[in-house]
Amino acid sequence: MTTTTAIERAEHLKAALKAQPQRLLIGGAWVEAVSGRTFETINPATGEVLAHIAHGATADVDLAVRAARKALSDPAWSRMSAVDRSRVLLRLADLVERDAENLAVLECLDNGKPATLTRAVEVEGTIRTFRYFAGWPTKFGGETLPVSPRSGAQILNYTTREPVGVAGLIVPWNYPLSMAAWKVAPALAAGCTVILKPAEQTPLTALRLGELALEAGVPPGVFNIITGFGDAGAALVEHDGVDKVAFTGSTAVGKAIVRASSGNLKKVSLELGGKSPQIVFPDADVKVAAASIAQGIFFNQGQTCTAGSRLYVHKSRADELLDAIAGAAARLKIGDGLQPDVDFGPLISQEQWDRVNHYVEVGSAEGATLAAGGQRPANLANGFFFEPTIFVNAAPTMRIVREEIFGPVLAALTWSDQDELVAQANDSEYGLSAGIWTNDIKAAHRTAAAIKAGTVWVNCFNMIDPASPFGGFRQSGWGREHGRQAMELYSETKSVWVNLS
Ligand code: NDP
Repeated sequence: MTTTTAIERAEHLKAALKAQPQRLLIGGAWVEAVSGRTFETINPATGEVLAHIAHGATADVDLAVRAARKALSDPAWSRMSAVDRSRVLLRLADLVERDAENLAVLECLDNGKPATLTRAVEVEGTIRTFRYFAGWPTKFGGETLPVSPRSGAQILNYTTREPVGVAGLIVPWNYPLSMAAWKVAPALAAGCTVILKPAEQTPLTALRLGELALEAGVPPGVFNIITGFGDAGAALVEHDGVDKVAFTGSTAVGKAIVRASSGNLKKVSLELGGKSPQIVFPDADVKVAAASIAQGIFFNQGQTCTAGSRLYVHKSRADELLDAIAGAAARLKIGDGLQPDVDFGPLISQEQWDRVNHYVEVGSAEGATLAAGGQRPANLANGFFFEPTIFVNAAPTMRIVREEIFGPVLAALTWSDQDELVAQANDSEYGLSAGIWTNDIKAAHRTAAAIKAGTVWVNCFNMIDPASPFGGFRQSGWGREHGRQAMELYSETKSVWVNLS
């Protein structure tokens, strides 16, 4: 993607957004909110208003749920053969691929993340997710089981998998397109109908995904989209016509969802916050580790649930490693993500900027040493830009070590005793992921076994694939996305007993 191309695309997309109101997708039709209200979505790199978005709320959620319930029993979807459902998902993947450059630039405009990286990581990940889950409808079935009835009756016992029903999918702003794909793809593969609620900051790629789904042949009402605010998400969670909620976002909202979903005991899966440790052993390849640790905390401006925000480096390698990480941070080109050489964009919003800035003040007040960054870059007066930031001499009790900042802030600690190291790394309310850096195979496996986290990376970080389960221990969430586990999230098991005697 050349500079001119990304900027030209951006101008073209912005003109199209201005020309066309951004509506809700309900029952296969694009409609205004019942209230007629709209809200603005802005470019976080410039503050420019990009589009006016339909402001969906409770009444719109109700209409979407009705449409999704109707579509659930419509033979066009419920009787669609596994091969045809697979074909629809493959077609959707192809359409995302066809429009990949536009989607990357649209995400860059709405979220701020660099377009080149978005194309390579997020859009590519979305294509792969739909292709992967397209393989499941033809393979996801039940089994026959060797039951032993006391009566001695001859029984055929088998299980079937059925779609859980209407799924409410609530996604955040940090990876808007791929978080939507992680939920929409397995839900459709399992035969559910869905209502997607994108984050208020980043609705644009979700709406485009809805258009592509219709073009791919997803029947009307199977994929609905409600744009709006947290109250729309809450209405979805409380609705008795919704059978399942899948959520990615903050732990606080995750807990509210658990409470609010109890009315009809809908199934809930949650992918929440993290405070992932990066553990560096004395024998680690420091050069490789430094590059990956910098990437692990600074990618997407640190607005990543798996961000490796706590660094535990053996004291014998600390100076060398921290110098290399600081060097990698200094080389990051910060700016508007439409420029092809930019690898670090703005934070999503003023609110997020204030939150990150607050944590920098807290870290300094707590006695950690600010070794790099900590403020707005001098040459970027507009937009929500914040420098890659490194604290050294951090201590386990500090808030910058314990709380999720969700920004480009690394807190570094040193260690010398391996047992203490594991205890410290596990001393967190979260348990999403961890990185281990060593060439000692025994230390690697021992530590991987001891760490309380849903994903452990050894000599790598942030490797994610739709085939491998993803989710958290402890307050990082419930359930696993990706892989067969995701298909299970969106289906119910039925056990059938047939008396053959
Ligand atoms: P939220 O958890 O508030 O938002 C995530 C999604 O939930 C959005 O679509 C949001 O809608 C929706 N939502 C908000 N309130 C409710 C509710 N009561 N019921 C149902 N859905 C709701 O995250 P924020 O955007 O407020 O970010 C705050 C912090 O959360 C960040 O600083 C970060 O620490 C963490 N976070 C973690 C993420 C992760 O990947 N684990 C992702 C994003 C944030 P709306 O946007 O309209 O409010």
